[in-house]
Amino acid sequence: MRTDYCGELRSSDVGREVSVCGWVDRRREHGENLAFIDLRDRSGVVQCVVDERHDLRSEYVVRISGTVRPRPQGTVNANLDTGEIELGECIVEVLSEAEPPPFPMHARSEVDENVRLRYRYVDLRGERLQRNLKLRAKVNSAIRSAMESQRFTEIETPMLVASTPEGARDFVVPSRLHPGSFYALPQSPQIFKQLCMVGGIDRYYQIARCLRDEDLRADRQFEFMQLDAEASFVGQEEVMAFISEAVSAATEAVTGSTPNEPIYMSWLDAMERYGSDKPDVRFGLELIELTEVFSGTEAKVFQVECIKGINHKGGASLGRNAIDELTGKCQQWGAKGLAWFRVGTQGTLEGALTKFMSEAEQVALGDAMGAEPGDLLLLIADQRHKVRDVLGLLRLELGRPPISAGGLNFVWVTDFPLFEAIDARGCPVSAHHPFTMPHLDDVAVLMEAAGAGVAAGAGTGAGAGTGAGAVEASKLLGVRSQAYDLVLNGWELGSGSVRIHRRDIQQAVFRTLGISDTEAEKRFGFLLDAFRYGAPPHAGFAFGIDRLVAILAGEENIREVIAFPKTQSGADPLSNSPTAITNHHLDELGLRVLGGANA
Ligand code: ASP
Repeated sequence: MRTDYCGELRSSDVGREVSVCGWVDRRREHGENLAFIDLRDRSGVVQCVVDERHDLRSEYVVRISGTVRPRPQGTVNANLDTGEIELGECIVEVLSEAEPPPFPMHARSEVDENVRLRYRYVDLRGERLQRNLKLRAKVNSAIRSAMESQRFTEIETPMLVASTPEGARDFVVPSRLHPGSFYALPQSPQIFKQLCMVGGIDRYYQIARCLRDEDLRADRQFEFMQLDAEASFVGQEEVMAFISEAVSAATEAVTGSTPNEPIYMSWLDAMERYGSDKPDVRFGLELIELTEVFSGTEAKVFQVECIKGINHKGGASLGRNAIDELTGKCQQWGAKGLAWFRVGTQGTLEGALTKFMSEAEQVALGDAMGAEPGDLLLLIADQRHKVRDVLGLLRLELGRPPISAGGLNFVWVTDFPLFEAIDARGCPVSAHHPFTMPHLDDVAVLMEAAGAGVAAGAGTGAGAGTGAGAVEASKLLGVRSQAYDLVLNGWELGSGSVRIHRRDIQQAVFRTLGISDTEAEKRFGFLLDAFRYGAPPHAGFAFGIDRLVAILAGEENIREVIAFPKTQSGADPLSNSPTAITNHHLDELGLRVLGGANA
């Protein structure tokens, strides 16, 4: 049907008779019998000079045959790849008529996203999604080659699985053949990739679809794609190198140049300096430790566990309202308040709290923060974790550039704690997932915690023989893990860890997490069993392809790099999912719905 793509014709084609196919983009009438049609396909547009007898409307699908000729002098369009030429003496064949498009194609940003998603097939024709989806395909292809050249084997793992604990809610699928029983859709292929290691696959990878029933955000969809990888007889360094290689290849495929070497930072450093485990290192505003400065303070607000501050350079010009607004935000994030000082022209501090501070304290504060006239010093005083969290958010509020600014800054965050919190039952919660290997020096603490739990619970039935028992919470929260994250421009791209390959350590972790031996046997018995039959030491990682592609495409929202995403509320306005199912279908599955659409 066609000889060429529209957007690829150039001056060098002048004189050729060509046929192009596509959609009518713009149409301009010219005199009585002449119209200019911009014909669009996936490669771009070309101008066709068409006889007015054809009643061509926007988005009609047509085939146009004509001769490539230079545009008349003065009508060359330098902004268009095909701007030097046009197709003349056109013969037009309408392949498909079209109703007027449901939204104006050239004012996309003003159209409600629900409308664009309802008519996604029209939206997909636009330049932005065409570009983003091609970019995405390049990323996938580069990742595949990079993994394969590092001797990884692509293996597909099942979609109907037993639950995998990644910390989110499962999507479940009822079983017709086993009424009352459910499959989970995989939150990740975690357990299967570890079983592949026991199975001697040695190096596994997969561009895997993962499903997690969590609230949606700009960087989160129910289903997302991960490069998932696992390797045997390797440790953290090797895994970070494998993944860096894949990410670098993907970046190079898109940008044409190799990205900067990643930065390595410990979790503690990231938390203390950036107030976040996904440090955005594209800008300053680092958190400055001030606890020492106030060690002998008379000021009540500063008699707390931790004080840190941010020097907002030149911020003294912020008005009272703006500062009050920042204070309000800090309170929303959990702080009691925000202490602030303007730095005056003489370098002296000005602010309501100075009257509670000694002269020496004021000087020491200014020095510690590198204060200069015109700066605004913003301080939070509270428990250490709260100070870090709130200032981390304030830092982003004050300085975060758009996602595409400041180049690509990869950071490997290492030495995560094994547990991130203690839950209401007194059991710790995994920071990563329960298969993460603790730091070997800290295994003894775990064994102690698990042992204490067993003694306390006497090992009978569910709930017994579990919990952290006699070991103090602070000691447990201090247990280090061999887990690591990859961060890009402040977005968490992915995480991984060295895995537990020993049955006794895995059991100790389950017990410490409050998972009884009985429950562990029921949920993960097959994994513990596998460890009986020769498990190699192994480690792995997974990173989100949607997020990587979004950043490479300069998009703040991953929906812009997914062909058919869900809305913020988890619906698909195009196919109308989720939908009710018939009573017959429910009967077959042995289900009854309480409330909701079927009730
Ligand atoms: N399964 C983990 C995740 O999806 C990644 C990993 O540990 O490999 O977050």
